[in-house]
Amino acid sequence: MPRVELDGGRPLPEPGDPAIDELFGSRETTAACRFLLERRQNAPTMAEWLAYSQQAFGKANVHSQRRLREVRSHFVVESRRRTGDGEWVYELKGWKKEAAAASKISPRLQAEVFSKKGRYCHMCGAGPDQVRLQIDHIIPESWGGKTEFENLEPLCEEHNHGKQAFFASLDNFGPAIAHALPKQSPWERIGELLIAFKEMAQATPVELIELVAQETHKGDPKKRLRELRYVLGWDIVPHRRKSEGVTEVTYELRSALPWPPEGAQAAVAEYERKRKERKAAEVKLAD
Ligand SMILES: [Zn+2]
Repeated sequence: MPRVELDGGRPLPEPGDPAIDELFGSRETTAACRFLLERRQNAPTMAEWLAYSQQAFGKANVHSQRRLREVRSHFVVESRRRTGDGEWVYELKGWKKEAAAASKISPRLQAEVFSKKGRYCHMCGAGPDQVRLQIDHIIPESWGGKTEFENLEPLCEEHNHGKQAFFASLDNFGPAIAHALPKQSPWERIGELLIAFKEMAQATPVELIELVAQETHKGDPKKRLRELRYVLGWDIVPHRRKSEGVTEVTYELRSALPWPPEGAQAAVAEYERKRKERKAAEVKLAD
């Protein structure tokens, strides 16, 4: 079936696409959605919209307004004045972003996460006898997090919602995070995040540094920050601020240096090797 590609990225269905049936609970909303899809190039006026719903459903406009509202739960339908005669028209612009279906975590993957990562909330430790556990994306999908084992963890309902609210409050920073996440090493991910925040004239919240560090095994983002400062020579200043009893920690990047050609990991390893050599030499001297 041919599809129209929108700049929003998600292609719109053809008016006849049977998948539209599954979006809405009612046959009437489905018909309304098809009507708006059909008339995208020639957006209907209020009068045409009402005439259509009257003809299709034989009902008053209370319902046609409700249909419109339901269509808007999945699609952006703009009401605007038409140039020329100034009539109000309803133009279906594309998929609504929030409605982009969150990718389903298969029962098999859920079972794997529970069995290997533990059947308890990874924030408060509560088990299934105390709370309702959900599988959560560690890095939200909207920031490029994938639906795969490494990026999933069990959380209780309460912490899952709390975390979502926290991330929603940081949504302006999504692009900065999406920029930092694909980098190879934790130093680069943290460093690139700090650079992106510096470009926005902001200090970086420690929670985001921990998030992009993504070291599930022997993670120590604070150590990586120290290495950025003392091994790679970046000027990073921590800030602590108490607000409503909670200490907010942010890191302000004052200046960065180019990444070493051998890579951050190799530079840090070399620094560690020299430090150990020096220590060994000192021990020898002391003997
Ligand atoms: Zn919890």
